[in-house]
Amino acid sequence: MQKRIEKRLTYLLGTIMAAVTLLFWYVPDIHRVSLAPDTSGVATYSVMDLLRSGDEVYKVDTTQTPEEHQLRLTLPRDVDGSAITYTQDAMTKSFELTIPGVDGSYFYDYPMVGSSDGIRELTFAHAGGKGILDITTTKIRILKLTVEDSYVYLDFEDPHDVFDSIVVVDAGHGGKDVGANRENIFEKDINLSISYKLWSYFAKSDYNIGVYYTRVDDSFISLEDRVALANDLKADLFLSIHNNSTASGRMSGINGAEVMYRVSDESGRSREFAETCLNELLEELGCNSKGVVAGDNIYIIRTSEVPVALAEIGFLTNKEELNDLSDENYQDRAAHALYKGVIKTLKNNGVDLEKKVHQAETAE
Ligand SMILES: [Zn+2]
Repeated sequence: MQKRIEKRLTYLLGTIMAAVTLLFWYVPDIHRVSLAPDTSGVATYSVMDLLRSGDEVYKVDTTQTPEEHQLRLTLPRDVDGSAITYTQDAMTKSFELTIPGVDGSYFYDYPMVGSSDGIRELTFAHAGGKGILDITTTKIRILKLTVEDSYVYLDFEDPHDVFDSIVVVDAGHGGKDVGANRENIFEKDINLSISYKLWSYFAKSDYNIGVYYTRVDDSFISLEDRVALANDLKADLFLSIHNNSTASGRMSGINGAEVMYRVSDESGRSREFAETCLNELLEELGCNSKGVVAGDNIYIIRTSEVPVALAEIGFLTNKEELNDLSDENYQDRAAHALYKGVIKTLKNNGVDLEKKVHQAETAE
């Protein structure tokens, strides 16, 4: 009984952590710094081949399958399972586990058991008494970590099995690509700020929606990578947040919100998503409407395989809207409008958002 409670608790913690780290997945540099072999002298080696073939020396055994799990690690003596931490990055399909109390002889001392199915690469490094296991999967997965007795089980779940719905939010531009700009106000910053505020609406909601963000900081992300995240996830909706400027970049009286959609989406869902978002923006912001606009000439719209909407919330080249868009409260209202647009569209598309089945409660 005790064991079972512990297992469920660990699972729940793992799920919560997964949810938290998912939202902040794009932090690749933070954890790599101490790992780079050339700067720290720490050797990183691949244990992938060992996992595939089984290896006497390293005691990686693929002939034994851990019951109902993909991989099994053994907890080092005196190490509690709750001390294991991990991050996951959907963009690179990678996971990084930090296991305390581990040194270079870890895989000599403790056998790793499991299957390499769906795993592209698995590397191990150790530094400062901690072992770091980097795992890259072939598809976007969510790590489920279960601790039972002295074992740690790793499973890689399909996000569609974990969430009722999946949404990708894309804060347009970033890094060297500032987007539209006026008076030292950059579109990329406004887009990111609205994206953060949108994050807080999803975080507050009870819906079991997996929201993935193409960026959560001032990184430059290629258009290809942005679309790939939505396409790889087979997201229910792909929302890109932008702001507008006149073609000349000069200040003018032109103002208002417009939302672009993919005409070539024959299901009509892209257009419906765009219309819903536009209506919510107009209602919440009381701004001018520039309507829904065919956006197939835009790369991320044309190549999106899932219903996409690209919202241009306002014009940086309009004095009044530039002021509005710089205002936190206005940004928050824009985010709220987009949040309502997403929820409404999911419901219109028949996604059951009310089932709220949490796997931790049903898992045996
Ligand atoms: Zn833009």
